[in-house]
Amino acid sequence: MKIIMLGAPGAGKGTQAKMIAEKYGIPHVSTGDIFRANIKNQTELGMEAKKYMDQGLLVPDELTVKILLDRVAKDDCKNGYVLDGFPRTIPQAEVLDKAVAELNESIDFAINVDVKDESIIKRMSGRRACLKCGATYHIEHIPPKQEGICDSCGSELVLRDDDKPETVKKRLSVYHEQTQPLIDYYSKKGILREVNGSQDMKDVFNAIVTILDSAVKH
Ligand code: ADP
Ligand code: AMP
Repeated sequence: MKIIMLGAPGAGKGTQAKMIAEKYGIPHVSTGDIFRANIKNQTELGMEAKKYMDQGLLVPDELTVKILLDRVAKDDCKNGYVLDGFPRTIPQAEVLDKAVAELNESIDFAINVDVKDESIIKRMSGRRACLKCGATYHIEHIPPKQEGICDSCGSELVLRDDDKPETVKKRLSVYHEQTQPLIDYYSKKGILREVNGSQDMKDVFNAIVTILDSAVKH
């Protein structure tokens, strides 16, 4: 099964993508996580991506598309994947469609996790991330067992540089301008499914599972 998670930054794409990956046994592929791992390891790609990420801008398509195509060509993606944070522009979506079509395959669903901008700003300021294993928490809604420490790997949790309020506002405007058109793009292809992302994370997940399981059964 090949799934794309759509939604504003902070809508809960990563939170849901990790749960989907676990339930359906497919890899969670996050371009943001790949960039952050590169920044942490101070690679050339990481240094280049950081210039854009810190300003709340998208990393140029040339860089992003290559890392995504390399990732989904790996063996563990043979039976599908859940993409989180890719595509974010129409050209990225077109490249993905072409790559998938070359394998005589197709994307099954683009799931739009819908959350209003006002809630997004609150969510992002409370988000705490583990830069080692990619786990994400929220200081109020989804707290770790021990404050500031990742439940999964024991590393220190941080407020991402790009989750500061001014950068979040910029990221939201970039989202509306460059990424929101993908909703229409996938709707026209007949694979768009909407879920209300303002519910409790378990309810959001149940709504997604209903969509995915209906496809498996029919
Ligand atoms: P995205 O991957 O779309 O940027 P995340 O999954 O990282 O978003 O979620 C953003 C923040 O909101 C995180 O701190 C996360 O723990 C929290 N969060 C995710 N889903 C929900 C939810 N349904 N209700 C409340 N908070 C949530
Ligand atoms: P995320 O973790 O998905 O919120 O991504 C964090 C940041 O990484 C974004 O604000 C962008 O700067 C960059 N990024 C991640 N995925 C993409 C993408 N598909 N296209 C361009 N930039 C991206």
